Amino acid sequence: MWRVPLSKIEIEKDEIDSVINTLKSGWLSMGEQVKTFEDEWKKYFDINYAFAVSNGTAALHLSCLAAGFGPGDEVIVPSLTFVATSNAVIYCGAKPVFVDVNTEDDLTLSTLEIEKKITSNTKGIILMHYGGYPCDMDSIITLARKYNLVIIEDGAHCPGAEINNTKLGTIGDFGCFSFFPNKNITTGEGGMIITKNVRYANKIKSLRSHYMTTLTWDRHQGHAKSYDVTGLGYNYRLDELRASIGIKQLQKLEFNNQKRGKIVNRYINLLENEKDFTIPFVQHRGKSAYHLFVINTNNLFNKNKIEDHLKKMRIQTSFHYPPVHLFSYYKKHFPEVTLPITERLSNKLITLPLFPSMTYQEQDYVVKSIKDAMQ
Ligand SMILES: *Cc1c(COP(=O)(O)O)cnc(C)c1O
Repeated sequence: MWRVPLSKIEIEKDEIDSVINTLKSGWLSMGEQVKTFEDEWKKYFDINYAFAVSNGTAALHLSCLAAGFGPGDEVIVPSLTFVATSNAVIYCGAKPVFVDVNTEDDLTLSTLEIEKKITSNTKGIILMHYGGYPCDMDSIITLARKYNLVIIEDGAHCPGAEINNTKLGTIGDFGCFSFFPNKNITTGEGGMIITKNVRYANKIKSLRSHYMTTLTWDRHQGHAKSYDVTGLGYNYRLDELRASIGIKQLQKLEFNNQKRGKIVNRYINLLENEKDFTIPFVQHRGKSAYHLFVINTNNLFNKNKIEDHLKKMRIQTSFHYPPVHLFSYYKKHFPEVTLPITERLSNKLITLPLFPSMTYQEQDYVVKSIKDAMQ
């Protein structure tokens, strides 16, 4: 159907073999594969606690619950993100407070705008490292200390990215990751939460499995006979099949992120002199995970023109993101939000194809088609 897809899932023989071996092992949920996946994740991120969960949204939900967000609390969130970021706040009964991004070149949350929206009810901030590019962590951490706020990093775009030589996801109180098929690491559905804090870790562990005091795995191993339920929890566990894919995917993350980086830099070289659009994040902080490559067209007319032509050339594009505060559900419950830059960008951004195995021929075809569209 597409001559160049937006993203391509990179599953190789080792992932397939892992799944088959796991299927044959006779144990399919929360066993050795999940434990190994979590251990490898902890090693890679150099952090004490990691919990595999059923998806990235569950990771955000559990982080908000562990942080203690609830009715009456306000949590600052971006609007230029996937809806899961702010939904997680609402699941807990707290109120998402939307904040604008820095500029049309730096699509991460603005520290100045965050500070303007802080009230006595503000309990935390969920950051999103858009496209794999780090938020301004220094100023945000300073602000969080000043107002005693919990920081949750929505790291769905950024596994492997760094700022000040520190991995994103390890700087805030919680780091949340998604393994949905279009992300830098995939397990189909899946997610991970990391934290340094033992109190948060214990809470996440309980919340993930219905606050059961022992798990099937412990009982299977003869460690326990029965269990108690000491709170209201969920089933947000990851299964062994997905974990066994994740172990292999993690081994390839650095290499694949490097390949993404090369493709992005080549895009920039080929497109930076075009006058009909700009490229956000050409200048950026730290080390990106290069999850997305977006261009910022001058206006809706150019956006439509490029999108239509690329579609005709069978090149798949996307748009990250329709602002969350403009969705009908959000407009109904949170009217009167205005975010000038985010709203302006919604008529201008286009996401172009980017995946580690993208060839120069594919990329040249995309670049030529964009130039043709603007003729
Ligand atoms: C993908 C994504 C999520 C949600 O992850 P799921 O695994 O699909 O639940 C959350 N936030 C952002 C920014 C994402 O891109």
